[in-house]
Amino acid sequence: MKPFRYVRPASLAEAAEAHGGRPGSAYLAGGTNLVDLMKLGVARPDTLVDVARLLPAGVEATAPGGVRVGAGVRGTDLAAHPLAGARCPVLAQALLSGASGQLRNAATTGGNLLQRTRCGYFQDVSKPCNKRDPGSGCAALDGVNREHAVLGHSPLCVATHPSDLAVALSALDAEVEVTGADGIRTVPLDGFLRLPGERPDQDTTLRHGELVTAVLLPPGAFGAPSAYRKARDRASYAFALASVAAVLETRDGLVSRIALAFGGLAHRPWRARAAEERLLGERPTAEAVRAAVDAELAAARPLRDNAFKVLLAGNLARHVLAGLAGPARD
Ligand SMILES: Cc1cc2nc3c(=O)[nH]c(=O)nc-3n(C[C@H](O)[C@H](O)[C@H](O)COP(=O)(O)OP(=O)(O)OC[C@H]3O[C@@H](n4cnc5c(N)ncnc54)[C@H](O)[C@@H]3O)c2cc1C
Ligand code: SF4
Repeated sequence: MKPFRYVRPASLAEAAEAHGGRPGSAYLAGGTNLVDLMKLGVARPDTLVDVARLLPAGVEATAPGGVRVGAGVRGTDLAAHPLAGARCPVLAQALLSGASGQLRNAATTGGNLLQRTRCGYFQDVSKPCNKRDPGSGCAALDGVNREHAVLGHSPLCVATHPSDLAVALSALDAEVEVTGADGIRTVPLDGFLRLPGERPDQDTTLRHGELVTAVLLPPGAFGAPSAYRKARDRASYAFALASVAAVLETRDGLVSRIALAFGGLAHRPWRARAAEERLLGERPTAEAVRAAVDAELAAARPLRDNAFKVLLAGNLARHVLAGLAGPARD
């Protein structure tokens, strides 16, 4: 591991100053991803600014009926919180399907969204990787790419985003609160996490030196039937091969509200807008759900080893939506 300077500032203002927006600086929250990447030589910060004790760590109700989750809230606490996870099945199920109990005790809400891809070539500094070393190439394109993207990838990068929480937040239309030198801004989650395009080295639209300070859940996040389902290689901790977060409400047997997001398929959670449009206002019969999910996944461009993900994701989505539709599907 490269030697680094460790700073533990007393306030967020001091943290911003210590970080200084310099390319060699990095914020440290739970450390469960960053420290691993430092040990592998993938991340090589010269200054670590520890913000773990400074980040907002509360979950608060907001005036319009939403909830503000501080970026420092740990996964375990968010999953069980009476204002958040305990009221919102898709959120709690996504959090509890991620990592292990020990990791969830340490991992923060902000760090979870900002964790890096688990692409094996990204983590192996002997291999070319445009995300780690822009312009060097992508070893996964013609390599072992069973776990890689089937949607929204570019010729420069076919990595997936590893977060389960992010998939639930996408289906809940959550926003990310970002604090920087220019003040506070909020960004919809889908505008915060990026597709790779020409710049796979940039996972998010966060500017260097900015801090994620909270995640904002809108009023509609609560009360509607919702669920998260994840397929992975083993039942104990493992990242998603494919996952589905869904919110589905019916009125008089017709779909009155729907949100569907896939995980494990793309560089960010994949919000299934085409499927949603097809189902809204319709009776959620098995045939209607199948047609909608198939229409969404028609955009998939599988790589050599991962065509199975399209079938897997489709089956997960159909199963989850059928469960949420209940009797309205008949
Ligand atoms: C064995 C293992 C299995 C795992 N399995 C899963 C899984 O199945 N599903 C899943 O979702 N996750 C999984 N994880 C990932 C885990 O959830 C993340 O490592 C964790 O959420 C990261 O949070 P952290 O607070 O430890 O972040 P850190 O490691 O401290 O930081 C991660 C990155 O975010 C930056 N950062 C952190 N907080 C902020 C902030 N507030 N503002 C700006 N930048 C910030 C850091 O600089 C760093 O670049 C797994 C991890 C391990 C080690
Ligand atoms: S898929 Fe992306 S992260 Fe993986 S090797 Fe290619 S460029 Fe790097």
